[in-house]
Amino acid sequence: MTLHRKNAFQFTRLVGDVKERFDNLDGLMPSPAGVAAETWLFVGAHDDDVCIGAGFSLMAAVQAGVDVQVIIVTDGRMGYCTAEQEPHIVDIRHRETLASFAILGLPAEAITFLGYPDNDLAAWQGRRKARAQDPTHGGYTGLQNSFTWHLRRLRPHRVFIPAESDTHPDHKITYTELMISIFHATGAIWPELGLPLDDAPMIYEAAIYENFRTPPNLEVRADADAFQRRLQSVLAYESQGQIAGVIAEIEALGPYEYLYEHAFPHYAPGQYRKMFE
Ligand SMILES: [Zn+2]
Repeated sequence: MTLHRKNAFQFTRLVGDVKERFDNLDGLMPSPAGVAAETWLFVGAHDDDVCIGAGFSLMAAVQAGVDVQVIIVTDGRMGYCTAEQEPHIVDIRHRETLASFAILGLPAEAITFLGYPDNDLAAWQGRRKARAQDPTHGGYTGLQNSFTWHLRRLRPHRVFIPAESDTHPDHKITYTELMISIFHATGAIWPELGLPLDDAPMIYEAAIYENFRTPPNLEVRADADAFQRRLQSVLAYESQGQIAGVIAEIEALGPYEYLYEHAFPHYAPGQYRKMFE
């Protein structure tokens, strides 16, 4: 079974001008009990964002025994490319999503579909009392309600998220709503959504549409087999008319993926003191 080959991925962490190289995730991301004891949460605004932006990271995590969980925020209803697709596009993309993640090694049980309307996330920012038909946990609805619920349920050590720099509104809103929900999830508010997290997870931004605002500090390099697998996972979204262009870009870049890793940026004004002394 090729899925468990050793060293299918090579990792580089930039620390200033120093390039630290690793051939396993435990070297790249040392933790007390090892990454196999961790939960990683990959959040995509749309079904194809994770495999395009962080597919190698997800595959590497699955192979390392991490408990990998995925949340897809929108239902893809605006992603039709033909008139025939329009009434069926949500079901079509649901099937394509399961097929794509299966290629990356992830079973359907690890994927949560929030079902918020594609291209309309602005209407679901924040948290409010649920009305009939609204998605709900604890009688409330909205992105912050859903994210806080799932963060406290899954309790991830690391969260992969569309980069802050992406200007697609669904990506931007997913970023801001998830980040403030991490803040909420570590606090005492909204007790009906679960027990507060002990610590904020580490954040990994993955760019899809625009260049990173802060340059990435991690590179993942895949071997030929993993590269082909990721290409197939993108091709699984065959209903998407623009997929050929995405594939061409991935093939032109080669088997590389970039992430901006950072801790949750709690405001710590003490760091600015020396600038004003
Ligand atoms: Zn997207």
